[in-house]
Amino acid sequence: MFFFFVGGLEQQVRLVQKSGAGRCIACGSRADLVDYDKVLKVFFVPVWRWPGKAPLMHCSSCHLFFPPSASLPPPPPRMKAEPHGMRCGSCGRPVEPEFSFCPFCGAAL
Ligand SMILES: [Zn+2]
Ligand SMILES: [Zn+2]
Repeated sequence: MFFFFVGGLEQQVRLVQKSGAGRCIACGSRADLVDYDKVLKVFFVPVWRWPGKAPLMHCSSCHLFFPPSASLPPPPPRMKAEPHGMRCGSCGRPVEPEFSFCPFCGAAL
């Protein structure tokens, strides 16, 4: 008897626990910490569904599930723009805007 099994195990998001909790290990997009169900499908019809044990990270961009321990840290808050301090026109070193003369080479600013 030839048994041809078309189906497989899928994971489906049941509940987003924490949105943007990490980053996708595949594409680097924002990933959510989610509760998920495992769904057994046969001929593309879900026949059995049971909850996953521990929450997983899920990327909504590439639909990848991966363990939270593997996730990249959340994107850092935007760094404050580097102050565009003045530079000495003579030696090119950064100098305080209040200065009238460069402390390094003494050129007038
Ligand atoms: Zn991704
Ligand atoms: Zn200088």
